[in-house]
Amino acid sequence: MRIIRSIEEMQNYSTDLHRAGKTTGFVPTMGALHDGHLSLLKHIRSKVNSAIMSIFVNPTQFGPKEDLARYPRPFEKDCALAERNGCDILFSPSSDEMYPEGFSSYLTVENLSTTLEGEIRPGHFKGVATVVLKLFNIVSPDIAVFGQKDVQQAIILKRMVKDLNLRINLLVLPTFRESDGLAMSSRNSYLTPEERKDAPLIYQALRKAHDNYNRGELLSQKLSEQIQSVFKSAHFFRPEYIEVVNSYTLAPVELVSNKTLLAVACRTTQSNTRLIDNVILGFGVF
Ligand code: AMP
Repeated sequence: MRIIRSIEEMQNYSTDLHRAGKTTGFVPTMGALHDGHLSLLKHIRSKVNSAIMSIFVNPTQFGPKEDLARYPRPFEKDCALAERNGCDILFSPSSDEMYPEGFSSYLTVENLSTTLEGEIRPGHFKGVATVVLKLFNIVSPDIAVFGQKDVQQAIILKRMVKDLNLRINLLVLPTFRESDGLAMSSRNSYLTPEERKDAPLIYQALRKAHDNYNRGELLSQKLSEQIQSVFKSAHFFRPEYIEVVNSYTLAPVELVSNKTLLAVACRTTQSNTRLIDNVILGFGVF
């Protein structure tokens, strides 16, 4: 596996790959790799000649009171995991390389960026869209792959690819979970043992609502209440939002259909960790 730190080197390498007729697949990450990230890498590995992963903890997507400084950065371990799982090129630039002095251009994907996560984390998706567009311009992949775990991010980036006519095939893969259902996340390492015991309730609540939809419940209010009732038994987290929305527009819906997204965010009470998860009813958007 080749590790590349400079934008120029990455761009030259990618140009050479394309000139040689090789296809490239790209998995952008912030590192602290877990099996969720690695499932994306393994998927892309089987589809392209060259698998490229980036590790960059992007400062512009963190709010001033968020966890940028304490975000885990186990770089050596990540390199070993990436290599073992078929990564050919690991692109890991510094913040100064990505945002040199004078940097002033940002991308906003309007409407979709101001609800759900965007409401609680103002500016977050501006940072995400900007860094992903930069990474796309640097890596020039044929295919890029993202996780449904961060569903709003995936919906926004799909909109960006469409609106800006990017020649990239953007794939969204299912959320990879621990055996008790908790969605894998780099932030799970912040959880205290008590919080970790409560955390599977999040997916249990979503499953319960999904099962009720499958049994014929179509009122979004009822599904929200069912999720809320499961959350009542949690001692170490509280919900920040429980949303039932259209999975293309993210607008709230009263009657659910097979395009409906159930999305929840919770905050734990001891380590103050945010946990997000979602399910899409029926066939959904991806
Ligand atoms: P992050 O490092 O958190 O920015 O995530 C990098 C990519 O991995 C994003 O596309 C995430 O949606 C995806 N991802 C994170 N957690 C999971 C998971 N549990 N299952 C599948 N994909 C995930």
